[in-house]
Amino acid sequence: MKQIGHWIDGKLVPGTSGRFTDVMNPATGEVQAQLALATPAELDAAVEAAAKAQPAWAATNPQRRARVMMKFADLINQHMDELAELVAVEHGKTLPDARGDVQRGLEVIEVCMGAPALLKGEFTDGAGPGIDIYSMRQPLGVVAGITPFNFPAMIPLWKMGPALSAGNAMILKPSERCPSTSIRLAELAKEAGLPDGVLQVVNGDKEVVDAILDNETVQAVGFVGSTPIAQYIYGRAAANGKRAQCFGGAKNHMIIMPDADMDKAADALVGSSMGAAGERCMAISVAVPVGEGTAEALIERLVPKIEKLKVGPYTGGADVDFGPVITAQAKARIEGLIGSGVEAGAKLVVDGRNLKIQGYENGYFVGPSLFDEVTPEMEIYKQEIFGPVLTMVRRESYEDALTLVMENEFGNGTSIFTADGDTARDYASRVNVGMVGINFPIPVPLSYYTFGGWKKSAFGDLNQYGPDAFRFYTKTKTVTARWFSGIKDGVALNFKALD
Ligand code: NAD
Repeated sequence: MKQIGHWIDGKLVPGTSGRFTDVMNPATGEVQAQLALATPAELDAAVEAAAKAQPAWAATNPQRRARVMMKFADLINQHMDELAELVAVEHGKTLPDARGDVQRGLEVIEVCMGAPALLKGEFTDGAGPGIDIYSMRQPLGVVAGITPFNFPAMIPLWKMGPALSAGNAMILKPSERCPSTSIRLAELAKEAGLPDGVLQVVNGDKEVVDAILDNETVQAVGFVGSTPIAQYIYGRAAANGKRAQCFGGAKNHMIIMPDADMDKAADALVGSSMGAAGERCMAISVAVPVGEGTAEALIERLVPKIEKLKVGPYTGGADVDFGPVITAQAKARIEGLIGSGVEAGAKLVVDGRNLKIQGYENGYFVGPSLFDEVTPEMEIYKQEIFGPVLTMVRRESYEDALTLVMENEFGNGTSIFTADGDTARDYASRVNVGMVGINFPIPVPLSYYTFGGWKKSAFGDLNQYGPDAFRFYTKTKTVTARWFSGIKDGVALNFKALD
């Protein structure tokens, strides 16, 4: 059986704990590797080595660090297919979707090629007589990134790009379900010129996460995952005096106004709720049709589109729309939630339970499901399902729809489909959600903006990637300097003989 260890000081090392977890192939239900789970002592040693490597990296001028990012981006492009396959075999998403996963991470590395411009400080000339004030951005030292299973390439790249190009060393703790992409990315970063020890990939579970949170050398923690863990990590990291930004789960609503283009809205709903088996933090999981007849007009279009979807392994051909969910437990949980919706009185229009794919009977496949007549008290509305399930909550007016979204505890993404600019502008301005789409279903901002939710979708300050990430991974130092007058007045320009 293949064993996966850690990436320490520029090389692969086996784990020493004797503790392992199985890395599954979600399409077949077979164990494909065993992943070593690090001990706190292994973590502490990785941090110590990173702390030794960091000062020289920080002293490397920002343009040279940016050149490493340039080469890294080039190598990611060259290895795109290989990286996508690594993502697909551990996560289960289709190859085109896996390529998108790598691509959206790569775009953050592309922005990091311009890191020197984002790291510039400020300067006030003549703040007083002979006085100048200037500020500089300095790296924090050793920082950590803790990432989820659902974007095995993109989110590690979101973390490492800004942190490393700002001159930090990083401890990356990827999801134990999909660890291989992070290790491959670390190999490519080394090939691009990143010095050994500056990026350490330490695999593990809660034990190693807690060790990161308690390690005194680690200055900052960037986390992405589910809301309860995000909240826990934020609390413990902050209590230990660390800077922390912890991004959590979501329940993203799409409001469909009666004047919307229903064909386009239906296409957008199917793609954004079912793509990647619904395992995206920006997936639309709640459709909110507004006014009389809107729900019917949508359902009429949604049902044939949903019934046509092909679920299968990533190796199943170009027409596979989405793959399995991540674990047997995730499948059981999703199917349990669908059952709870039926019991609570919601109308199950398309039932995706008990899907069996020939030749892949042990895979964790869940078919697409559509619910109508869902109400906010139901568990299928309250919980993040993280599966291919679209729920529909009908509302009579725009204001009612807006209130529903505003009262939801999550605030990651949302979308409105309408032909009316006034309604769209009002929604974008008033809704208490971090990322808004107008006739756009998954409004993940491009890499030169920033990504972050509101409410229980994020804890801590500043967003991921873009200018915010450079603020998060650096601290500001401000210098007030006075140079007394006199020297320049005393300069003698004549050619004097020595006394
Ligand atoms: P998760 O919270 O189970 O795991 C995330 C990370 O935390 C992993 O590295 C894991 O090893 C670690 N972890 C898990 N349990 C822990 C514990 N008890 N103590 C300490 N560490 C622990 O999340 P997941 O299932 O891997 O990912 C899916 C979740 O991530 C969804 O809720 C999704 O919405 C969310 N997500 C959010 C964003 C965002 O930017 N807001 C992006 C992607 C995914």
